[in-house]
Amino acid sequence: MADTMLTLHGLAASRGYAVGRAVVLGAAALEVSHYRIAPEDAESECARLSDALTRAHEEFLRLADQLPPDSPRELGALLQVHAMLLVDPMLTQEPLDLIRQKHYNAEWALTAQGQILGEQFAAMSDEYLRERSSDVRHVIERVLQVLVGAPEMSTPLACSGQGDDALIVVAHDIAPADMVKLRGAQFAAFVTDLGGATSHTAIVARSMGVPAVVGLNHICQFANDGDILIVDGEAGVVLINPSPAVLIEYAERQAGYAADRASLTLIKDTPPVTLDGIRIGLQANIEWPEEAASALAAGAEGIGLFRSEFLFMNRADLPDEEEQYAAYASVVRTMAGRPVTIRTLDIGSDKTLDGEQAVSTNPALGERAVRYCLARPDMFASQLRAILRASAHGHVRILLPMIAHMHEVHACLAAIDSARRDLDARGQAYAAHIEVGAMVEIPAIAIAIEPFADTLDFLSIGTNDLIQYTLAIDRADPSVARLYDPLHPAVLRLIAHTINAGARAGKPVSVCGEMAGDVTLTRLLLGLGLTHFSMHAQQMLDVKREILRAHSNALRTRVAASLNRAESIDLALL
Ligand code: PEP
Ligand code: MG
Repeated sequence: MADTMLTLHGLAASRGYAVGRAVVLGAAALEVSHYRIAPEDAESECARLSDALTRAHEEFLRLADQLPPDSPRELGALLQVHAMLLVDPMLTQEPLDLIRQKHYNAEWALTAQGQILGEQFAAMSDEYLRERSSDVRHVIERVLQVLVGAPEMSTPLACSGQGDDALIVVAHDIAPADMVKLRGAQFAAFVTDLGGATSHTAIVARSMGVPAVVGLNHICQFANDGDILIVDGEAGVVLINPSPAVLIEYAERQAGYAADRASLTLIKDTPPVTLDGIRIGLQANIEWPEEAASALAAGAEGIGLFRSEFLFMNRADLPDEEEQYAAYASVVRTMAGRPVTIRTLDIGSDKTLDGEQAVSTNPALGERAVRYCLARPDMFASQLRAILRASAHGHVRILLPMIAHMHEVHACLAAIDSARRDLDARGQAYAAHIEVGAMVEIPAIAIAIEPFADTLDFLSIGTNDLIQYTLAIDRADPSVARLYDPLHPAVLRLIAHTINAGARAGKPVSVCGEMAGDVTLTRLLLGLGLTHFSMHAQQMLDVKREILRAHSNALRTRVAASLNRAESIDLALL
């Protein structure tokens, strides 16, 4: 355990401050639940763990027994060693103490003890003993599998929040699918070694409204379970075991931040109009249907981006048409007539379906999003029917991700027509007119935008991917994060070009990438002529405050003057 204060610098991925205890999640640990149990449940939790240990022990003995005669002798010996580890008090006793004393659930107690043992073995001078740390890890993973296999443990990773301390997730990386499991748990912050500020991990943390710092490189190496952490989501800094003076300093910052949040609620019902009278549209990005309510509460005028793929992740099966219809219709009903922009499945790249490995050598350039859907017409049709049926309850718009070619637009429009015919045949209702738009997130479409602006009803600029593809920077890779530059003149010219083409064609253009919710870029986007923003609900009031203070036409003149510069635009000049 680091007992002197350590400071690690990463990328600020989600705003705010958190102070709490570290829960270090290994890859296996992410597959299981971490939560505090009620004290009166300690004995039954101990029994659950003991039972899993016994079952894993018997399994190893059975395996050793049933080895074919020609198996290497070492294999049998290894299985015997594994079986022995499972009856050693370091695994049968110590985790039970953690359950009784700290009220950890069985999985957490086991992984916490596993980490301690792993470190003890790794520190041994004898090479043979050092290698035993991997045996410990192996048997623990087996016991975790036994625990997870029990029917009552099929629930996602969750934290009951019964403990006194806030808990902070520390992980090497958290895949978007694992973030889905972490969602709903009462973790106070997320910190990871990997990830860029617009990685989907960061985006999900933002949607949960908890601070996150990513790209820390060594946090898993330095932080241990139970360490006190300060997460500074404003500066992108994590402090491990801070001194009392630093804790006091951060308590003040936390209070100041909370007071600022509270004061922002005063402008919740103020229309977002610039000083020179330009009315700006503010909509919300959501990943899950339940978020529609908080979008509305934050004053969103609609849903500018519903990332439907999150309904598909982290499950063995695919959501069928009925399940999707129920999810989309619930958002549409919550938004009560306001527009709801449902993006068709954007799977691939870092967002994969369960059991599907990325086969592409470079998934970001592979069969992602609309390419994936057009290659699976049945699956696409069921999503389109579900969306169309939801349109019977309000104002729905369909948004197509990763469009690069006009033939993709035509294929999608044909698929929508065919879905309409399916519904006609069934006698099911849908709205007479439904707007269809495209994400502008591949430079090709931004450069050759005019026919797309003419054909489609609206455009939505996905700056996260547009920056990634324009600058050839993996948005999730911290080693190139410093080159991921939203202010690069090429990026700004593509945005400006798209906004201008939309204006000429009389079609609304929004930005729904993370730039829209970054309050430091609000003046720049206004200066580029943007009038429709879509962002996480948590960012909306900050952006609105900036809009209320801005003079749009003056910003347009200043931004136009700097668009042809060779260097990234200097925000201080705006
Ligand atoms: C984007 O690319 O900017 C976007 C909004 O889509 P996603 O972040 O889901 O790729
Ligand atoms: Mg995108």
